[in-house]
Amino acid sequence: MGSRETQNAMTRTRPLPIYMDCAATTPVDPRVVAAMLPWLRDQFGNPASSTHPWGWEARKAVDTARRQVAALVGADAQEIVWTSGVTESDNLALKGAAQFHRNRGRHVITVATEHKAVLDTLHALEQESFQVTYLGVGSDGLLNLDEFQAALRSDTVLASVMLVNNEVGVIQDVAAIGALCRERGVIFHVDAAQATGKMPIDVHALPVDLMSLASHKTYGPKGIGALYVCRRPRVRLQAQMHGGGHEGGLRSGTLPTHQIVGMGEAFRIAKEELDQDDTRARALHRRFLDGLRDVPGFHLNGDAIRRVPQNLNIRFDGVSGEALMLALQDVVSVSSGSACTSANPEPSHVLRALGLTDEQAGASLRMTFGRFTTEAEIDTVVRALRENVERLRRLPAGDSERTHPGC
Ligand SMILES: *Cc1c(COP(=O)(O)O)cnc(C)c1O
Repeated sequence: MGSRETQNAMTRTRPLPIYMDCAATTPVDPRVVAAMLPWLRDQFGNPASSTHPWGWEARKAVDTARRQVAALVGADAQEIVWTSGVTESDNLALKGAAQFHRNRGRHVITVATEHKAVLDTLHALEQESFQVTYLGVGSDGLLNLDEFQAALRSDTVLASVMLVNNEVGVIQDVAAIGALCRERGVIFHVDAAQATGKMPIDVHALPVDLMSLASHKTYGPKGIGALYVCRRPRVRLQAQMHGGGHEGGLRSGTLPTHQIVGMGEAFRIAKEELDQDDTRARALHRRFLDGLRDVPGFHLNGDAIRRVPQNLNIRFDGVSGEALMLALQDVVSVSSGSACTSANPEPSHVLRALGLTDEQAGASLRMTFGRFTTEAEIDTVVRALRENVERLRRLPAGDSERTHPGC
């Protein structure tokens, strides 16, 4: 009795399914884990302790990580503010900029396909007498620049447009949008949670004032993130977390050295292996599509070209995404494209914004792969999809497995 039973209960008899939900979170790169451990186990000093070597060593490690995170996006180290993740970065950027500049104007522009971390933060600002314009997108998921320009008003203070969409993977033209903002003196925020490590980013070549950066979507640990805050021109923010005055007063709280070191190492690897990761991802993307192209009624949601290759948001006409996901659950872990989870029973606001019907949104699956996905895994998933799409289509109409309405 005892330890052996406990261990058996904790050990799955079957292997875990193939992981294809990297847009939800990526695996932590083993090199990141190795870099973090000493700072969790041995070097526990507080980076703000200035009176002894425990603190000095931790401070040095934080400085190195700050340079590594800055380097991936072309920023200076002093422009990086540590946060607990992108939800907090988005909150600090949007509330911080809007509140600091509230006397300049109360109008904000964003896009209907943004992450809830942006949309819900802007809803909160609406309660503080800000007005928010939510722009639509085309069926390709992309924002129309003329519509953006037409939405700018004399009292617009802030705009927020994500770089890579977390559901459909499309890439917005933040260079062009940012240029329109700069012309008008509008502060421009970009949520880049899904972009780092998947495409080159250079904030000093981009007219971007604020950029949210994620660790756990880029093979780093959860619970740490960053906000890029442009220094030239200097962007002023109102702090949202008050306390010891850490991070230049913008975000108080003791810095989690091991998390920060992990994000730094993850971003160092992302920069070093960007081309290699991209080449592999493109090949896997092609392999996946080639394996399904001839299946009748197969669609890729979102623009086919202006997207990151790691995202495969797909649907098969007449096949419920929920039923397909259930049929595949022992083979591969994916996300329902309709975001039809217990937390949110509504069809995805993103797929709806692309003009998909409830039924099409309900048919959609989001498969997102990453650095550690293999060709063999892609082939296994393609085979399982082909078999199950065919099987589900053969089921008599009205079978409950097939006709989940909407989601
Ligand atoms: C994951 C994600 C977030 C939230 O990030 P957390 O670090 O989990 O708080 C925000 N925006 C986008 C686009 C995301 O993909």
